Amino acid sequence: MSHAVVIGGGIGGLTAAAALSRQGWSVTVCERAGSLEPVGSGIAIAPNALKALDTIGVGDKVRELSAMQGEAGLRAADGRWLLRTSAEAALARFGDPTVLLLRATLVDLLASRLPAGALRLGTTVHAVDPHTGRVSTDDGDLEADLVVAADGINSAVRGALFPAHPGPVHSGVTSWRAVVERPEGELRGSESWGPGQVFGIMPLADGLVYCYATAPAHRTRADRANPTTPPNQATLDNGSTPSNGADAGGGGRKGELARLFGDWHDPIPRLIAAAEEDRILRHDIFCLAAPLPAFHSGKVALLGDAAHAMTPNMGQGACQAIEDAVVLAHLSGDLPSYTAARLGRTTKIMRRSRTICRLTRWSNPLAVRAREAAMSLAGRLGDDVTLRQFQDVFTWRPPV
Ligand SMILES: Cc1cc2nc3c(=O)[nH]c(=O)nc-3n(C[C@H](O)[C@H](O)[C@H](O)COP(=O)(O)OP(=O)(O)OC[C@H]3O[C@@H](n4cnc5c(N)ncnc54)[C@H](O)[C@@H]3O)c2cc1C
Repeated sequence: MSHAVVIGGGIGGLTAAAALSRQGWSVTVCERAGSLEPVGSGIAIAPNALKALDTIGVGDKVRELSAMQGEAGLRAADGRWLLRTSAEAALARFGDPTVLLLRATLVDLLASRLPAGALRLGTTVHAVDPHTGRVSTDDGDLEADLVVAADGINSAVRGALFPAHPGPVHSGVTSWRAVVERPEGELRGSESWGPGQVFGIMPLADGLVYCYATAPAHRTRADRANPTTPPNQATLDNGSTPSNGADAGGGGRKGELARLFGDWHDPIPRLIAAAEEDRILRHDIFCLAAPLPAFHSGKVALLGDAAHAMTPNMGQGACQAIEDAVVLAHLSGDLPSYTAARLGRTTKIMRRSRTICRLTRWSNPLAVRAREAAMSLAGRLGDDVTLRQFQDVFTWRPPV
């Protein structure tokens, strides 16, 4: 039986291990953290990734544990709807809507698909030999026919295999995430865009709501207090890095969100008020600006953020990691074919996400008004216009 060593127990690594195991590989997953407690809170899983998850037998469970979003869309900071669509329209067009669930739920489901003993927590990989497939860990060496480097945006394996690649760059924005109790009253899924800032509201199952926000990194209180300090370049996970001195200006993360979004439309101020200070995640967003020349070298395949870290604006980072994983398993370790299947598609999505990220940073009032006018014009053309933007992304289907 061929053996695969997967470096990293994030969404990408766990999906790869589950998919390879289904294809008859024996797998070992090395995760340096002592638990799978994931960084992050809610996560959007789009139709393309749901179809990929079907191939490892967890798609239906994800659908079952997610909330149906109903009508949702893009709004202005004062609450005006600019673009609207619905889960029903997405279902009709793509066979599935985008679903929202807790990250921890998804990670647990993926981990439940691993063979007993495959997951080695608290195991750090120190070196990989792409020619022999030898993987050196703090628990000793492992021999692999295939090494899957799913070690995240700051992938040490990527750095070793492609030393000329410039690595991650700062996107210019800071993000906040929180899961809060659903407040009283009507609540629709939405993403609201104001000058330079975004606030997303996504209903989850069990009376919870996933909220996320972004703002230009220079607008944060900590950076204003210390404008010469560059964004923190420390350890990166999940496409992001904990921001330095989040609470430096006083008032904490909640105070910071209230200052940035306190006068935005209902229920945003109420959601911020309902958030628990020590459960608000705050990260600077990084991404790869340049694609890699390949997603493999020797016996090593790069996957997920290690291969194509993108800004979260299309909600596709983890979805693409999931696609990578099922394609890699389907190709049974034929790595040139894996690069051929994945590099072009992920590069396109990575670039599009960054373009949207730049659009959200517009703060000039005239530019913002023009952006809103263009969006509402498109919105008046109906559901189809919104969904058509995602046609090539969401209609992807796993290889059979
Ligand atoms: C604010 C925000 C919101 C997002 N929202 C969405 C969304 O709604 N939908 C979506 O699809 N995507 C979203 N993403 C993107 C998504 O989170 C990432 O693309 C995805 O988590 C990447 O998974 P991964 O497995 O490639 O990497 P990671 O999750 O970073 O996992 C890498 C793992 O490797 C481990 N590791 C690293 N080095 C070693 C080593 N040497 N030895 C052993 N283990 C190691 C790390 O501990 C980590 O557990 C979002 C990202 C951000 C920042």
